[in-house]
Amino acid sequence: MFGLMQQQELLISGLIDFAERNHGDTEIISRRVEGDIHRSNWREVAKRSRQIANALKHMDLEAGARIATIAWNGYRHLELYFGVSGTARVLHTINPRLHPDQLTWIVNHAEDKVLCFDMSFLPLVQAIHARTPSVEHWIALCDKAQLPKDTGIPALRSYEAWIGQHNSDFEWPIFDENTASSLCYTSGTTGHPKGALYSHRSTLLHAFGSALPDVMNMSATDSVLPVVPMFHVNAWGLPYSSAMVGAKLVFPGPALDGKSVYDLIEQEQVTFAAGVPTVWQMLLSHMKPLNAKFSSLKRTVIGGSACPPAMIESFKLDYNVEVLHAWGMTELSPLGTLCSLKNKHRNLAPEEQLKLRLKQGRTFYGVDLKILNDQGLPQVHDGKSYGDLYAKGSWVINKYFKETSPALIDGWFPTGDVATIDEDGYMQVVDRTKDVIKSGGEWISSIDIENIAVSHPHVAMAACIAVPDPKWDERPIVVVVKKPDLPLTKEELLSFYEGKTAKWQIPDDVIFVEAIPIGATGKILKTKLREELIKA
Ligand code: AMP
Repeated sequence: MFGLMQQQELLISGLIDFAERNHGDTEIISRRVEGDIHRSNWREVAKRSRQIANALKHMDLEAGARIATIAWNGYRHLELYFGVSGTARVLHTINPRLHPDQLTWIVNHAEDKVLCFDMSFLPLVQAIHARTPSVEHWIALCDKAQLPKDTGIPALRSYEAWIGQHNSDFEWPIFDENTASSLCYTSGTTGHPKGALYSHRSTLLHAFGSALPDVMNMSATDSVLPVVPMFHVNAWGLPYSSAMVGAKLVFPGPALDGKSVYDLIEQEQVTFAAGVPTVWQMLLSHMKPLNAKFSSLKRTVIGGSACPPAMIESFKLDYNVEVLHAWGMTELSPLGTLCSLKNKHRNLAPEEQLKLRLKQGRTFYGVDLKILNDQGLPQVHDGKSYGDLYAKGSWVINKYFKETSPALIDGWFPTGDVATIDEDGYMQVVDRTKDVIKSGGEWISSIDIENIAVSHPHVAMAACIAVPDPKWDERPIVVVVKKPDLPLTKEELLSFYEGKTAKWQIPDDVIFVEAIPIGATGKILKTKLREELIKA
């Protein structure tokens, strides 16, 4: 027997409709690329996202067409979030920190039809436009007057002129909630970047889950600052969850330095902020010498990399801000766990609470985790036994975009992280099996770094490993065996990297060794290498 309830598809257009109807005058603040502060609200975002819908209709783009963005966090990007997905087209958010060759590969793989970009990324777009034949329309996120004349990009249009030609009369179509809504590539695995293709349903369920009190605890009283970029897993879903609860949104644009972030927090009375540890490090370093305090900030979600204990302590003791340590992945939309305490933890001594808060946290309804040992058997949840971490849930990927076989093992997604889980369900990441380095919240493929090194005629073998770094969390170094009797200096090898990969991905150091340890299966033993070199 079926229940007798209404069936409503969970669609992203429903979120913007809701925010417009119920929180129309709630502000959306953006620091623009130009440096000024722009003020909008949910009503205006809804209206302009319907203008986008009409503009896309006019372009005759089929459902499922990919509309790409290379943009900072701001109101125009937010309008595209709703305008593109609301019409059953797919918003493909691209990470501008990648090398032009990587960007070209991603745009071609996604077969993007439209590419919208902030003017600060014009040089990047100029570097790729001739190599990305699928793109039919180039849109600069600016006013008509700001559009330079001779960019070399065919039929480049300004966003304001593009949407300005269309009115806002548009009825959002109703379609299957499993329809694709947005696409985000991750290089957090080996080989080429892989696309996580989210659906309306997964996005809405993730928004419901992440807004819960034990998770991000979001409400219409919040002023939310997503420092985490909108090109990185949809800014952890904050544009959607903020629309769902009617929160004020504050976008930092490209200004992520400590002073700019602090000023914005104070000016816009931010209550809740989210970002990777590197950004908060810059914020705290700015505030400490000035003895500056927060007048509104209550909590901050820190994730993407392990949050250092000193950061949690400093936020709590010096600023009375609660740190919520979170773990997630592009493949998980991204939230998997968040570290909020249970009732029984309320009276724990501060040092015990800190120990707990350092863990990546517990899952909430909608995601399941398990840890398996080397034999594929479940590990006990005692907070000590560790194993490969697997995830399952309504907002966890099944397959990567355009791949035929599922990304799952026995129905579970292998995260590439190694973790413990304690009796209360708190997970702690202890290692990573995937061969990648995370620097300032962004991935560096160690394989790419090794491939460049071994393409140097004087290099016999190379291994790239991560070393801990106080600012960036991890930085890459490359360990090299030279070919016999061929000279090579550290400086020569480092300059060999220039132009071959993004600048920030170039290793910090080169260590020359006689031999690199190899395991029984012929693989480089990176754990051994790390043990030997990082201790030394
Ligand atoms: P991404 O897909 O770029 O969001 O990266 C996901 C990966 O980042 C995870 O699989 C972890 O390796 C790492 N990660 C994310 N959050 C944390 C955290 N809080 N602590 C340690 N590692 C993390």
